[in-house]
Amino acid sequence: MGIYVVTGAASGIGQAVSGALRAEGHEVISMDLRDADINADLADSDACAAAAVQVLERAPDGLDGLVPCAGVGPEVPDRGLIPRVNFFAVVDLVNRLQPALERRRGAVVLISSNSAQMTEYDETYMQSLIAGDRELALQRVQELEGQGAYGGSKQAIVRWMRRNTPALAAVGVRINAVAPGYTETGMTAAGRDHPEYGPAIREFLASVPLGRAGLPEDQANAVLFLLSERASFITGSVLFVDGGHDAVFRPDRF
Ligand code: NAD
Repeated sequence: MGIYVVTGAASGIGQAVSGALRAEGHEVISMDLRDADINADLADSDACAAAAVQVLERAPDGLDGLVPCAGVGPEVPDRGLIPRVNFFAVVDLVNRLQPALERRRGAVVLISSNSAQMTEYDETYMQSLIAGDRELALQRVQELEGQGAYGGSKQAIVRWMRRNTPALAAVGVRINAVAPGYTETGMTAAGRDHPEYGPAIREFLASVPLGRAGLPEDQANAVLFLLSERASFITGSVLFVDGGHDAVFRPDRF
């Protein structure tokens, strides 16, 4: 059985991923702000580094996988949390845990979003993320709307992934991303019940070809596949788990 790290494991998609891994008999080292094996604020780069050290202590023989699910949505009041949690913490954990992943020829599954490709996002913001220029990214994000900050972070993490796919493959580590569509979690609950945004969200959901919102388990199924040996020839890929919504928005791009 394997040993995996899942961040954002206290809620939503991360909780479903850790539950599914445990149900298959694997060991999970969970990470979140609270209610996890390692409680850490991943927005804080020192806390993120310390959390990675704790993982390495708990997994001295290496890791079979890493699923950095922790993320914040577009409406978070502190806009700077979006690049910190959705991008920089993810890259930091992949880099710090890479030696442990190499040891067991592990796999990484990132959580992007189908919104990453739905529209154009600020190129300066995304380039600053990919280049690891925290100062510029944190300054630029203050000039963006929440959706631009969020979608840009989700596009940038995939672009970072694809740039790093060959180097990780060379040391035996696969890296892929799941791009969820609208999924029923704590992140989406507030909007659904909102008097102003609720009707627009229901209209948006009515256009999902498979006729429903995603469930955390739908995302977990895709993540477990990409972690598994069945996906041993898949790396650098993005798997849309969105009931066909991306096909509606971008029928000619894939
Ligand atoms: P969620 O709010 O249910 O779970 C997110 C988890 O991340 C929470 O447990 C939260 O405590 C944790 N977290 C947030 N900030 C943190 C921090 N600074 N340090 C440590 N942990 C932190 O949301 P979810 O929908 O399960 O989101 C999981 C991932 O899926 C996110 O990256 C999100 O962007 C992505 N996603 C979600 C949807 C959707 O519709 N729900 C769609 C596309 C992508």
